Amino acid sequence: MAALYVIIFILGLIVGSFVNVMICRIPEGRSIVSPPSACTGCGSRLTAIDLVPVLSYIFLRGKCRHCGERISPRYPLVELLTAVIFIVLFSKYGFTVPFFAYAYLIMLLIAVFFIDIDHRIIPNGLVLAGLAGGMLFFVYNCISPMPWIFGDSKWWTPLAGLLPGSGFLLLVAILGSLIYRTEDAMGMGDVKLMAPIGLFLGYKLCITALAASVLLGGLISMALMLFGIKKRKDTVAFGPFIVIGAFVTIMWGWELVQWFFSYMRF
Ligand SMILES: [Zn+2]
Repeated sequence: MAALYVIIFILGLIVGSFVNVMICRIPEGRSIVSPPSACTGCGSRLTAIDLVPVLSYIFLRGKCRHCGERISPRYPLVELLTAVIFIVLFSKYGFTVPFFAYAYLIMLLIAVFFIDIDHRIIPNGLVLAGLAGGMLFFVYNCISPMPWIFGDSKWWTPLAGLLPGSGFLLLVAILGSLIYRTEDAMGMGDVKLMAPIGLFLGYKLCITALAASVLLGGLISMALMLFGIKKRKDTVAFGPFIVIGAFVTIMWGWELVQWFFSYMRF
């Protein structure tokens, strides 16, 4: 069992280095498969040893071996983050199809998290990759005898999940543009991002993920304003909150739903 955890961790590191490639290249419109990675300073190709996640960064002490250009510590951090999230997912789902499905979704969402912070965009390519993976997962769930999203095994649950998150955010976007006469109230990227999340989670958990991200986004935005880091008119990227809300829901969604309704009942 311990060996399996080590394998999943290493898998997470390798996927994490691919996430780094997506974060760097997708916003620039470059291919994520070729050419091989190169130093941003001197352009020299990275060799097999340079591509070992995390360890190469430690051995090179965060510098390119050719020109000495500093390598951002975010590369190893994204690799570690991905690996840790894979371990957390694995601890809940084990060696199952849902584990691989959610690992795939989380891989895309980690890329979304950093790209939205850096560039304030959510690339359509990532949304489409999520929808394609979600459709595969949906087909698997239709032909698999195992109930999958725990406690909710109706076949149409994922399809119904396409609507509530995106629909709600679209409404916010339309109202925002009417009231504030600005396009910035809610980005269309956020609206689109909720669709693949709903497909993977089903409609009930999609609403849970949406509620979690709105709550988290509201609290963090208030804190940022309170401490003067952001002004009232500044906008905060909402994508990262959707990503965190989706991850929390994948891990503890039904517990959150139960807790909420037991709390509302008295
Ligand atoms: Zn270099």
